[in-house]
Amino acid sequence: MVLGKQGAGKGTQCVRLSHHYVVPHVSTGDMLRAAVKQGTALGLKAKDQMDRGELLGDDLIMEMVAERLGESDVRARGFVLDGCPRTVAQAERLADTLAPVDLDLVIDIEIHTGQVLRRLAARRVCVDCGANYSLSAPPLINWTCDVCGGEVVQRKDDTEEAISRRLELYERQTAPLIEWYRARHQLESVPGTGSPDAVTRRMVKVIEAKRRKGHGFV
Ligand code: AMP
Repeated sequence: MVLGKQGAGKGTQCVRLSHHYVVPHVSTGDMLRAAVKQGTALGLKAKDQMDRGELLGDDLIMEMVAERLGESDVRARGFVLDGCPRTVAQAERLADTLAPVDLDLVIDIEIHTGQVLRRLAARRVCVDCGANYSLSAPPLINWTCDVCGGEVVQRKDDTEEAISRRLELYERQTAPLIEWYRARHQLESVPGTGSPDAVTRRMVKVIEAKRRKGHGFV
């Protein structure tokens, strides 16, 4: 599971890790954005809160996550979890869902708020597959996704108002998870500065170190 404030590079790094280890990328944000786009009951319920940068209810999120973690690809290969848990209550529910096993490792991508504000203002995302781009690293052709051909746009919740609300909620609700997982000896931290390649290398290094210790990894 990967932790980090908005703009730390969590989404980008989770996609990279899922390719590197050939495991599904389970992103609650991507699942919810897909539901909004498809106009499902879940999407209709979630849209306004997401646009405002508010967190959705723990029950709704944890039911969605439990269902996804029960699917055959995840059961066969494992997963990279992105965007959940975001509260201690969600972390407790996740531990119950996964029991008798648990998360192998939680990686916190550390970054200063000043830096994430610049990144979020420049961030662009594919509406279809969720691939991340930025003004300085756009898709090759005319804001069309290099991966799937979808339209690449600015996220509705990357407005100044929603960003500050999301960062405030991160500090209040999600940051306590760092200590929560540290106390359970599940946490490693990596600096989120430098190029995406540099951050991926740091993450793979801590994963490999943990694997060598043989903490439940297959
Ligand atoms: P993300 O792409 O992870 O930043 O998620 C986008 C939005 O989806 C968040 O700002 C929340 O509104 C909602 N969301 C995603 N994951 C969660 C979660 N674990 N708990 C509550 N709300 C969530």
